[in-house]
Parts: sequence; C-alpha cells; structure tokens
Amino acid sequence: MTKLTDLTVAGALDGLAKGSFSARELTQAHLAAMAAARHLNAYITETPEKALSMAEASDQRRRAGKAGAMDGIPLAIKDLFCTDGVLTTAGSHILDGFKPTYESTVSTNLWKAGAVMLGKANLDEFAMGSSNMTSYHGHVANPWKRKGDPSVLVPGGSSGGSAASVAARIAMAATGTDTGGSIRQPAAFCGIVGIKPTYGRCSRWGIVAFASSLDQAGPMTRSVEDAAIMLGAMAGYDPKDSTSVDMPVPDFRAALTGDIRGMKIGIPKEYRVDGMSAEIEKLWAQGADWLKAAGAIPVEISLPHTKYALPTYYIIAPAEASSNLARYDGVRFGLRVPADTLDEMYELTRAAGFGAEVKRRILIGTYVLSAGYYDAYYLRAQRLRSLIARDFTEAFKQVDVILTPATPTAAFAEGENSDDPVAMYLNDVFTVTVNLAGLPGISVPAALSAEGLPLGLQLIGKAFDEATLLKAGQMLEKAANFTARPGM
Ligand code: GLN
Repeated sequence: MTKLTDLTVAGALDGLAKGSFSARELTQAHLAAMAAARHLNAYITETPEKALSMAEASDQRRRAGKAGAMDGIPLAIKDLFCTDGVLTTAGSHILDGFKPTYESTVSTNLWKAGAVMLGKANLDEFAMGSSNMTSYHGHVANPWKRKGDPSVLVPGGSSGGSAASVAARIAMAATGTDTGGSIRQPAAFCGIVGIKPTYGRCSRWGIVAFASSLDQAGPMTRSVEDAAIMLGAMAGYDPKDSTSVDMPVPDFRAALTGDIRGMKIGIPKEYRVDGMSAEIEKLWAQGADWLKAAGAIPVEISLPHTKYALPTYYIIAPAEASSNLARYDGVRFGLRVPADTLDEMYELTRAAGFGAEVKRRILIGTYVLSAGYYDAYYLRAQRLRSLIARDFTEAFKQVDVILTPATPTAAFAEGENSDDPVAMYLNDVFTVTVNLAGLPGISVPAALSAEGLPLGLQLIGKAFDEATLLKAGQMLEKAANFTARPGM
C-alpha cells in the first residue's frame, strides 16, 4: 500500500471516503514524518495536539455523513496567516510571542472544509525574500540536493517552509502567499505545484500584510488536481477584505477536463532574459510543444514593458511595506525593548525586531514615498504598473493563457545569491509582472535539471480564469510526468 504521507489530497480524500484509513491515522503519519524531518526547519511551530483533535473531529463528521471538501487533510499553514491562539511570527523577531485572538479568513475557510492544521510553516521575514534565508527562525533546507553534492540548497521564498514541507511529505499541502512570486518560485525550486490566484479571489483578511495591492494567498500542492481542490476551499468573497471580489467560485476540479484543443497559448518573446539557463530555455520550448501536442495553438506575443517589471515591483512593494510595517511599534503586540521615552522605545524595538532585509525595504519604501522623490519614483512606478497590466490586456485579446519559465534557474545553494540583493531580486523576473497586473499564475514541475533539481514552468491566465489555468496546467503536468522525489 502507498504510504499515507505519499498520497495526494485527492487520493487521501478517496481513501478517507472508503474508510481505508482515518483522518487520525493520516494526521499521525504526518506528525511522525515531521518529527523525522526537523533538520529541514520547515515548521516554526508544530501543533500536534491541535492536529489530532481536529483529525478526530473530522472522523466524527465523516461518520455522521457531514464531511467537507477537504475533511481530514493535514496542512501546513504559512506563518503569515493569523491563527487563533497559535503563535504567529511572520518569520520576524518583532512578533515574538504574538498569539492572535482571531483566525484569518483563508484558514477559517479551510477549517470549515474540514482540513487539519499540522503547524505553522517557516518563511522569509514578512514574506520578503526568495530563499527563506531572511527568517528570524532560521533557514529552511530544500529537501532536494544536486546529484553527488551534499550542499544544502534553498527552498526558494518566501513560502519556503510551505514548499519544503509539501515536497518532503511532511504536509499533504500548504498555504502560501505570493506578492511577487512567493508561491510560484518556491514551488518550482521544490518540485511542487503552486498557484497564485487572481488578486481578490482569496481574502487577505488576517494575513500579515507585506504589500497590500500585490499580496494573494494560494495553495501549494503535489498535483494540479490538489491545487484545484484546495483553491476551491480557500477562495470566496469576504466582506472583511474590501479588495475581495464578490464573484462565484467555480468548481475548479470539474474544470480539469483534459481537453485543451484549440486553446491559444501565448509565448512572450520578451521573457528570453539574460541569465536564464539554457536548460530552462529548452524546457520552455518543450512546454510549448507539449501543449501543442495536446491540441493547443502556440502564438508569439509581446509584453513590451516586462523589462521594467522588477524595478517597478521593487519600488511599489517596499513603498507599501514601509507603510504596513509602521504598526510594529512595540506597543500593541510582539517585542518591546524598554526605554526612557516613547520615541526611544519605538526606535530600539524596531532596530532589534526587524532583520536586515526588512530594514532595507523600509528604507527604500520610505525614500520613494518621501517628498521630492515621490514623483520621481513612486508615481512613475505606478504608471509603469498600468502599462505592464495593459500589455497583458492586449495579449489576452489573442490568447487564453501565457506560458513562461517559472524561474531563471534551479534552486541555488545557501550563500550563492545572498551577498547581492539585486541578484536575489532577479529570481522574480518571470513572476512579478503577474502580481503587478493582478492576474493568476501557476507553476508546475516540468523536468529535472542536469544536476537533478526540479525546474518549473509557469502559466499566466486571465483575471478570474483560474479554471482555464488549472486545466492547461494539468496538461503540462501529464506531459511532463514529473515523478522524481527529493533525497531529503
Ligand atoms: N521575492 C519577492 C520579494 O522578496 C517576492 C516575495 C513574495 O512574493 N512575498 O519581494
């Protein structure tokens, strides 16, 4: 029999429905696997007691014939989602000891669907990073290694703990958030599926804010079908988030018809960037061929403002972050460094509580918003953002989805990019445009590199058309038949 931790969400739901095993057994198997994989540091907080009591409640519901869409499925929750009574750190020292008295809407939705919480997954501090190396709670190790090379690789970021836990089978699936690529890039680095839904599809309420106009929550799973199931459970209108959109949530799983005949696949010529590995370039062409073989029609398109995407993102995201992070003042929650005056207390608390990357972003953000520089940087970035979004609007007049690589390289070793913030920011070159335009994007594991590391392909969809995205993503998944597993 397949090990319980190897099952997909769909497979586990099947087994639970048939009574082949209980939610309690499924959860216990994951808790044991978590204990054996602590070297990955994928979790900041494990919640075994909560997990077991949630699993037992799930078994009871199933016996009563009241099982929900994800009943009994054990999940890791990125530690950016507020969880009632459970430590929520955002990967930062400044939130030391913070136990929210409320639950985020997305996690509430998942618990309503019957899912079980295994713990809170590690992440880059305030979701700022591409390597999970900025977490106050330590680096996360990618369960994958290069062939014949013991170096520890990064899992990507910022949802690095989520991606590593799903790849390592110490969570059946996980929540992530994506501001500039933080679901799709770690998914690609760890060989799993990650989808960033359309902005407004999932509520941001109760998620620690990084850049409010870009942040979106989404599922990280081991199959496209699982992503469809979990997105259905997470999504939905929430009056508590004014940017949440009141639109029906389609049955994403039912959309996986396997028929993409006649679908038009855009291939943006501007995505051939410097620094992209030859392997990824080849995989990208292979991806287009796979979709073509399934009956889709590749079409060359142009997204001319792509070259401005990174500078635009790295002005807008820090600007919003500098404002969002002003609330951490040592007064209401988290760390406080006592001092003689209030101002001094603020300064000492923020100096001690924030890490270097977060401080860098606050400095950049404050600078681009300050009088005299606002017009030169922030306003121009906003204009570029509109142009980037307009490129997509034009492209989507011709095509149904857009195919790009997910990342310019495979996972790198700790330290390989970390002394140069600009090199690190380049990781997001294929993903940030999608956030700037508010569109949905999915990363699907598509091949192993010559060094034996997972490589991902990205599909970008029209606003609120995750269904088509998932359908096309599943065709990539089928063609790629990615069955390799990490050595851990
Ligand atoms: N790597 C990007 C950044 O550091 C994206 C992070 C994210 O999506 N949360 O800002």
